Amino acid sequence: MPLPSPKELHMEMPLYEVINLGAYASTDSYQVVFYSGTIDAFCLECEKEGVFRAVGGEGTEAAISAWDWNSMVTNANTIRHFSRQFICARDSEHRFRSYFRLDGDKLIKIGQYPSVADFQSPGLQKYKSVLGKDRHRELVRAVGLAAHGVGIGSFVYLRRVFESLIEDAHRGALTSISGFDDEEYQHSRVEEKILMLKVLLPPFLVENRAIYSILSVGVHSLTEEECLEHYGPMRVGIELILDQRLEQEKRQEKETEAKKAIAKIHQKVKE
Ligand SMILES: [Zn+2]
Repeated sequence: MPLPSPKELHMEMPLYEVINLGAYASTDSYQVVFYSGTIDAFCLECEKEGVFRAVGGEGTEAAISAWDWNSMVTNANTIRHFSRQFICARDSEHRFRSYFRLDGDKLIKIGQYPSVADFQSPGLQKYKSVLGKDRHRELVRAVGLAAHGVGIGSFVYLRRVFESLIEDAHRGALTSISGFDDEEYQHSRVEEKILMLKVLLPPFLVENRAIYSILSVGVHSLTEEECLEHYGPMRVGIELILDQRLEQEKRQEKETEAKKAIAKIHQKVKE
C-alpha cells in the first residue's frame, strides 16, 4: 500500500485507521505528515474550491523536525500526540485541523475538523438554513454512508429527510389549499400523497412520483443493492424540494426589502 497523499491523510482518511510507518522511509512519511505545501480542497466556509496552506501545529506545540521524526518512528516506546493546521488562502480564519497519535511506528489519525463527511458533501452545506441542523446532519450522514457503499443505512436516513419534507408540504397544504381532504391524504400511498400536494412540490417530483413508491415498502424487505439504486432519485427529490425552498426564501427576502424601501418613500412623501 503506498503512503497516502497529504490531502488523503489530513482530509479524507477515516479516523482510527492505523498506518504502519515501519513500511516506509521516515523521510517519505515526514513529507506527508508534516507537509508544508498547499492543498486544493473545498472550503466549507467560502463554500467553494480553494487553496489551503500548511501552517504547522496548534498553539505552542513544539515543531517536530525530520530528524526528531526519524528517531520517534524507530523507537517502539514513543507515544506522541500532535496536530496540523491548514488555512484557506482567502481568509486565515477558515482553518482545517487534523490530530494524530504516534505509537511507536503506528500513526493513527484521532481527530479532524471539518469532518470527512462534511468534505464529501460540500454541495449540501447551502441547505443547512432550510433544513435545520438535525435534518441536515442526517442528509450528510446519508451521503457519507452511500459513499462507503452502505445502501440500507444511507436509505434510512434519506427516507427520514424525504418524509419530513413531504410532511412540511402536508402541513402547508392544511392551511393553504382550501378543501384539502386530510382524511383521504392520511389513507393514501406515497405516490398519491405527492399528487395531492402537487402545487407545493417541485414539478419533477410530481411527474416522477412513481419512483417514490419505494417509500411504501418496508426497509426490512429491501436489499442493499435496491437501496443504493434508489439513492440517486431520492437524493435528487430532496435537493429539488430544498432548491425550491431556497428560491422562495430569496424571493421573500427581496419582497421584504422592497416593501421597506417603498414604505420609506411613502414616509418621505408625507413629510
Ligand atoms: Zn475559505
